[in-house]
Amino acid sequence: MGAMFVMAARRLGYRVAVWDPDPDAPAHTIAHRSFSRPFTDCDALKQFGSVVSAVTYEWENIPVSVVEALEQSVPVRPGSAILRVLQNRLDHKSFLAEHGFPVSPFLALSHPKELTNTAAAIGFPCLCKAATAGYDGKGQWRLSSASEAASLQERLSQSASSNDRWIIEQFLGFTKEVSVLVVRAANGDRRVYPVAENVHEAGILRTTLVPAAIEPVIAERAQAIAIAAVEALNDVGVFCVELFVMPDNALVINEIAPRPHNSGHYTLDACTVSQFEQQVRALCGLPLGEARLLSPAAMINLIGEDLPRVHSEEALIPLLGVPGSKLHIYGKKSVRPGRKMGHVTFLAEQAGRALNHVVSLQQSLSGVKQS
Ligand code: AMP
Repeated sequence: MGAMFVMAARRLGYRVAVWDPDPDAPAHTIAHRSFSRPFTDCDALKQFGSVVSAVTYEWENIPVSVVEALEQSVPVRPGSAILRVLQNRLDHKSFLAEHGFPVSPFLALSHPKELTNTAAAIGFPCLCKAATAGYDGKGQWRLSSASEAASLQERLSQSASSNDRWIIEQFLGFTKEVSVLVVRAANGDRRVYPVAENVHEAGILRTTLVPAAIEPVIAERAQAIAIAAVEALNDVGVFCVELFVMPDNALVINEIAPRPHNSGHYTLDACTVSQFEQQVRALCGLPLGEARLLSPAAMINLIGEDLPRVHSEEALIPLLGVPGSKLHIYGKKSVRPGRKMGHVTFLAEQAGRALNHVVSLQQSLSGVKQS
């Protein structure tokens, strides 16, 4: 995502400094200035701060202390106060609940020895999530029974450190997962993108369909909730609000990412202005762009070994021959299981047709023979 931001910023004429401790991060290869020291490196922090005039990020687990230090000299958007809240699942959910937004019932867990009692108080099935540093389903456990809770309690008691915290959430039997991108400018101006429908596999986003196959009134409600939640955050940037659609069509917020989101990658090919260009515009105080959907779209992530499968000549030629297909390969150096290596967006006149292309590709990636 860093590289996608750099491309958008360069196109608008900006010079970009990238700080990513991973020297192989693709964004380094297209940055004007590149920093790959750890975030704890004070010299790197000083140097980075001296060459930039505004800062944003595409990873919410960046240390808040780095954002606070940079804020002393340049605008960082979104700022450290909101980042601190969103970085911690407990603070995050509490913020939403206190502001009256619907969230799954949850309880804090500050010591593993309380796990079985806390899980029983929420009821089974439930989820135990690490309060910090989890993403793509990492640091999350689904608990179906008291005995599963007891065995996790045992494991966490042995491995956890004294400042680890968790959140126990009711497991919701949603019918769909959707997300809404909201962009907010410093002058309060904002843009909202259409509702996207997401499917996850093993906790990782697999596919996104836009517009979501939901009733227009539900879509409008999802957008209204997303806008209100981002207004409550009262900061500047691109925010992705993830929601569950419940069987009775009630909407529940799962979480808010203070950055462009994987489920918004379709905006690169299917919208007048992409989420990355909006991030540049919001950061630099430019007018926000139009968030218009130019075509229905469906996106599929290329995860781990999907990349070499798609990259074989046998697969690549038919894929690129599909009308409306757009292939994005991120240029990450090594393929690892669960790592997002690229994505394909299919544009089509009808969302259903775009989705069919995604399903065909998904089947061929998993070795299912096409009829
Ligand atoms: P998260 O890391 O919180 O975004 O969760 C990753 C994925 O786990 C979500 O996209 C959902 O598919 C699932 N999930 C998270 N929280 C819940 C919940 N309370 N009930 C059911 N599924 C959930």
